[in-house]
Amino acid sequence: MRVGIIAFMQESNTFIAGPTTFAHFEQDTLLEGDAVRSRFADAHHEVGGFFAGLAEEHLDAVPIFAARAYPYGIVAADAFDALLARMDAAIERAGPIDGLLVAPHGATVGANHADADGHWLSRLRQRFGRSFPIIGTLDLHANVSPQMVAACDALIAYRTNPHLDQRQRGIDAARLIARTLRGEVKPTMAAAFPPLAVNIERQLSAEPPCKTIYDYADAMLAEPGVLSNSIVLGFPYADVAEMGSSAIVVTDNDFARAEARVTDLQKFWWERREEFAGQFISIDQALAQASKLDGPITLLDMGDNAGGGSPADGTELAHALVRHGQLSPAFVCLYDPDAVKLTAAAGVGTRVRLKVGGKTDDQHGAPLESDFLVKGLFEGKFSESQPRHGGFLNFDQGPTAVVETRSGLTIMLTTRRMVPFSIKQLTSCNLDPAHFRILVAKGVHAPVAAYAPVSKHLIRVDTPGVTSADLSRLTYHHRRQPMFPFERQFV
Ligand SMILES: [Zn+2]
Repeated sequence: MRVGIIAFMQESNTFIAGPTTFAHFEQDTLLEGDAVRSRFADAHHEVGGFFAGLAEEHLDAVPIFAARAYPYGIVAADAFDALLARMDAAIERAGPIDGLLVAPHGATVGANHADADGHWLSRLRQRFGRSFPIIGTLDLHANVSPQMVAACDALIAYRTNPHLDQRQRGIDAARLIARTLRGEVKPTMAAAFPPLAVNIERQLSAEPPCKTIYDYADAMLAEPGVLSNSIVLGFPYADVAEMGSSAIVVTDNDFARAEARVTDLQKFWWERREEFAGQFISIDQALAQASKLDGPITLLDMGDNAGGGSPADGTELAHALVRHGQLSPAFVCLYDPDAVKLTAAAGVGTRVRLKVGGKTDDQHGAPLESDFLVKGLFEGKFSESQPRHGGFLNFDQGPTAVVETRSGLTIMLTTRRMVPFSIKQLTSCNLDPAHFRILVAKGVHAPVAAYAPVSKHLIRVDTPGVTSADLSRLTYHHRRQPMFPFERQFV
């Protein structure tokens, strides 16, 4: 038996003006055939789990296609069409297959297909027919649509945020397709879509309120006939009809039971919806709190959440740290390719006047102008061996400069937007996280796996931006109504 593997992953923030282009996929992942195996087989990623699970079940893995780009704006129409054409050609080349394991992100938006994942999964279903098994994984931030559910026999979402169980969910999917191909089970899926936008600030899976829901779902897995279930928190930074949370139950050939149990999950969650509205700490409140605590303290910059697609050059916290110089030494990373070039031209050990960050748009603070000492220049490549959010092994943020203000604010300037998912980002540039009183990480939960081990405290800060935790700052045109917490009246 030969099982094909297809991954097409991107989290689209529709509040960002810039589109995700074909080049963005080329920069991260655009692979076919055995190159997919080389890249992912050892990764803490669901595609790595597909390979491991299929090997365990003595099924032939047929890597077909993998495309991934960092979270950013909507996928441009020409890029989306070109990726689908590549996927089709790769399927042709793969030869006959008996089933498919698929890895959509679940929150991809195409300029020509708002429900991008629903679209490409439905194309696969049309191509291979109703009786052909298609089983997929989903990011916990998927905005699941009825079309995605209709196209697949089973969808299995990550259960952790930060996402540390990606590989295990891939193994689950591989085991399930193996049992399906052997005729032992017939996965039958039902989904529910509570009109609930879970605030990003509430999305830490290891703590209530999320943990309460996951514990309830975990207990359900022990019931005979329940093959899988998922609690999908959703991605609120997409102004699309399917934005919001969802629950999924997969049973063995019993749709009525899948529907009944998913209704139970939805009801349990909905009754607790008030707990999923965000609680916000302003920049001033956060710095006042930090001034009373021992460092290192990681300030999580929720409005400039690089893993949620934001520019990663937001300066609001950098400006605040300059104003509160007593909190030095402090560390901030900013995407600023022009400043890297100027710094490189000046050379290590020189002083240079720079305006850094705040250049992508006017939603994330003004550029920070100061005299800086150039501390170091680096290649910007590093590797991560530990399971970390996203399952990335190798990072490349491009040429990187480390500069420092007279007041003790260290700024890392990168040539590419970089997500703060690995502490190697600092250590590979000779920076010891323990040296700092304050570390700024541009994210909400994704950086926690990397930053909690080096921090005494974590504070989530309600900064403005395209990933503002306070959703009332964003204007939606396409989301469902009514939806909690935007509306509070439900009939
Ligand atoms: Zn995610």
